[in-house]
Amino acid sequence: MPTRSFVIEEEGKKRFWDVSWDGGEVELSSGAWGTAGRARCRSFSSVAERDAFIAAEVRKVVTKGYVESDTVAPVADEPNATVGRKVAAWRKRFDATLAPAWLPTFGDGPEVHGRVRGAMTLLGHETWPACPSCRRPLNAVLELDRSRLPDPSLRSKGLVQLFTCEAWTSDEATSGACIFDGWLARTHAPEGVLREGPAGRGQKTFITGWTRIVELPPDLEPTLVERLENEAPEVIEALLQGADDDGRSPYRVWAEASGNAARNVHKLGGFPTFVQECTLSFTRQLFQLECARPFDVNLGDLGAGHLLIRPSGEVVFFWASH
Ligand SMILES: [Zn+2]
Repeated sequence: MPTRSFVIEEEGKKRFWDVSWDGGEVELSSGAWGTAGRARCRSFSSVAERDAFIAAEVRKVVTKGYVESDTVAPVADEPNATVGRKVAAWRKRFDATLAPAWLPTFGDGPEVHGRVRGAMTLLGHETWPACPSCRRPLNAVLELDRSRLPDPSLRSKGLVQLFTCEAWTSDEATSGACIFDGWLARTHAPEGVLREGPAGRGQKTFITGWTRIVELPPDLEPTLVERLENEAPEVIEALLQGADDDGRSPYRVWAEASGNAARNVHKLGGFPTFVQECTLSFTRQLFQLECARPFDVNLGDLGAGHLLIRPSGEVVFFWASH
């Protein structure tokens, strides 16, 4: 169908006006750029009448300031409008999966929400926990006061304590077992006495506060992954706004570009960024720690450790490395 297209831009808003004809039928459509706009039709019994009508309508819009364009707006814009709607729908879907996490602030005090590499709260009669492999005393890594956590859904009574074995030397046959099994994560009563264990690695400090961030899950649910992968290339391209996907999933590229990808940092809550597949069933991550300061735990290459809440409410420690 022959079409003539006109555009105008006023106060930053672009509008189109198109006229198409086929025999005695004329269709006029107009509206905001990027939408299908509104159409109206007229019928004529002769080509001469039709052309006279078109010429008169064109004169009217040109008088209003419209300029003839090579781009045929309604035909070209309808798919663009669809792409825009699809991109917006994907963004909405992704945003719905955002969840909060909190980055710890370390310092001397005065607000103490947790202790790192320092004293642990033990009951008066309690003995300091020992490594199941070498039987030597474990080293304190973290004590977290769950009654003071900023996320109400992670808050509960009691302390969560994490210990690790650092007493082994690499020429001992039991070292491997110390590295893999020499971890103790437990919930402890809040009352007790503060006791110092053996000096280990890391830096003695306190968690003095939290900074709230939001994170996207590392992966989308499989049904959404499939839907996203079946989207038209122009939708993916518009969604990623030209970011290079390097063969990665569009979701991961989008998550990174949005600045809300789940982070490999020390954090409370949030989405665990597992280095290897987690073999435990859990409902929430309580805390994630990296091998970096102030913890300095032995987590191997690019390792990360996760205090996870099991469906039973029990807190367990899972770690993995490359
Ligand atoms: Zn040990």
